[in-house]
Amino acid sequence: MKFADLHLHTNFSDGTFSPEELAGHGARLGFAALALTDHDSVEGCARMAAACAAAGIEFIPGAELTAEHNNTELHILGYFLDTQNQTLLTEIARFQIVRQQRIHEMVARLNELNVPLKVESVFALANCMSPGRPHVARALVKAGLVANLDEAFDRFLKKNRPAWVPKARVSALEGIALVHQAGGLAIMAHPGLNRTDEIIPDMVDAGLDGIECFHTKHSTAMSQHYLEIADRFHLLVTGGSDCHGFSKGKPLIGTVKLPYEYVEKLKRKHDEALKSLSVES
Ligand code: AMP
Ligand code: ZN
Ligand code: FE
Ligand code: FE
Repeated sequence: MKFADLHLHTNFSDGTFSPEELAGHGARLGFAALALTDHDSVEGCARMAAACAAAGIEFIPGAELTAEHNNTELHILGYFLDTQNQTLLTEIARFQIVRQQRIHEMVARLNELNVPLKVESVFALANCMSPGRPHVARALVKAGLVANLDEAFDRFLKKNRPAWVPKARVSALEGIALVHQAGGLAIMAHPGLNRTDEIIPDMVDAGLDGIECFHTKHSTAMSQHYLEIADRFHLLVTGGSDCHGFSKGKPLIGTVKLPYEYVEKLKRKHDEALKSLSVES
């Protein structure tokens, strides 16, 4: 049996592995295909593609975008993205600037709470264009201001905690269109985590291609529930570990193994989509 992991992060966003380290874990675990889905970033895709090629692993370039619909937050995974697409790169650059500004705001709030974190320490540790809350959490731990990442999120960074700053979110319709114009397929990430069932019909109307049925934080019953929804709406099925590096001593990559037949279905749909894009232009 061949397997894939289609939801992975590197240190080009809030993961801790380099693309080469991540591909190395993929090879060790025997994966046939991997997709990189950094938050608001495609910068890691070139190195990941090279590392996967060297290891004999099929690579799918992707990204994870934060979007919203009717006040519900959802994450949109784009797959088979043209990582040179100018509109995509322009939009991603905009999201990244907002992410960087948000780091300044989160640190300012922490300082108001008499937590003496320096913004430079967060940027030094993040060392990427697309920083996020995990970088602030890691900098807090490193500075000895909290005992661990859970404490950083629970006390300060979780939604509605005092240092939480909302993120820029595109409308889901724009997010799906952005992925499509870059030649990609748009998939709703971890619907069981964001509780986005109610908006699935609207997303399907907007051209959503699939849903992530298998995810580390989906129970078996949840995965079954989303497989049924995928079936009902004729959506593609994806899955991935959402590995961000070592978590409690072990990486998540390897905990979700998507049967390769789902990748074949994705590729078929992508080929059809490319054909219709080239007919339009
Ligand atoms: P951001 O994109 O900056 O809002 O950060 C979101 C990321 O933070 C997610 O992708 C997770 O990797 C991480 N995260 C969110 N909530 C928690 C939490 N309670 N504990 C640890 N990590 C979290
Ligand atoms: Zn993340
Ligand atoms: Fe996500
Ligand atoms: Fe993710």
